[in-house]
Amino acid sequence: MKFIGAHVSASGGVFNAPKNAKKIGARAFALFVKNQRQWSAKPLDDETIKKFKDALEECEIAPKHILPHDSYLINLGHPDTAKREKSFNAFVDELKRCELLGLDKLNFHPGSHLKEISEEQCLELISNSMNEALKVTNGVKLVIENTAGQGSNLGYKFEHLAYLIENSIDKDRVGVCIDTCHLFVSGYDIRTKEAYDKTMQEFEEKIGFEYLLGMHLNDSKPELGSKKDRHECIGEGKIGLEAFRYIMNDERIDDIPMVLETIDDTIWDQEIELLYSLVEK
Ligand SMILES: [Zn+2]
Ligand SMILES: [Zn+2]
Repeated sequence: MKFIGAHVSASGGVFNAPKNAKKIGARAFALFVKNQRQWSAKPLDDETIKKFKDALEECEIAPKHILPHDSYLINLGHPDTAKREKSFNAFVDELKRCELLGLDKLNFHPGSHLKEISEEQCLELISNSMNEALKVTNGVKLVIENTAGQGSNLGYKFEHLAYLIENSIDKDRVGVCIDTCHLFVSGYDIRTKEAYDKTMQEFEEKIGFEYLLGMHLNDSKPELGSKKDRHECIGEGKIGLEAFRYIMNDERIDDIPMVLETIDDTIWDQEIELLYSLVEK
């Protein structure tokens, strides 16, 4: 069974996210557990935590179908030690927020080498940061997102994600989130059944579906392999609707949060309905 939702707003407080998810008929959702454009935020108080858990119960979405996303400022592979440490501390703070909210995953982008170090060196720094974070937190899984490969961002190849999993000190607490737009613009075609099967076969061989803990469902404005990160509404972009039919009928992708990050939040309810309509009985 598929659990579709969207990256909903948590403005006014994290407890608003479940309510916003319910409004659009979501069975899963993503949220920021703090302001994504600021380094620090005040600690979560008991009342906020209780309100979040109450709201969650009311919207009938299980914690395992929620995929929190970390701040855009965090770069676990930053070449500068002091800046990397700042990122690391912010990352750990977010993991602890997830823990307090009863959530078991945190989705993050691997990091950027900023053209100051090699890809290999950057991946090693990211891996070290992840392992240190695993040591000082409990339970929450580190969910690495594949990226478009824009600028100096790593994570645009399955090999990058595989390296980070292989070098993890706790493989039960790492996984990946595949963003369909990023997948496509980084050069993995999914537009025809043949192309989809080939890409997913490669995913199975290099990473493995047991590590797939979430998906971002986005169509793409730019072309295949363009390395430009610009999302489009489902079926309206260069990927097209058929790819989403393959995904919705792929049993290897059951029971994980699958969230829209498409550009028109006023039609998320329709996009969710559209995706469910693709499921073949
Ligand atoms: Zn994404
Ligand atoms: Zn994106």
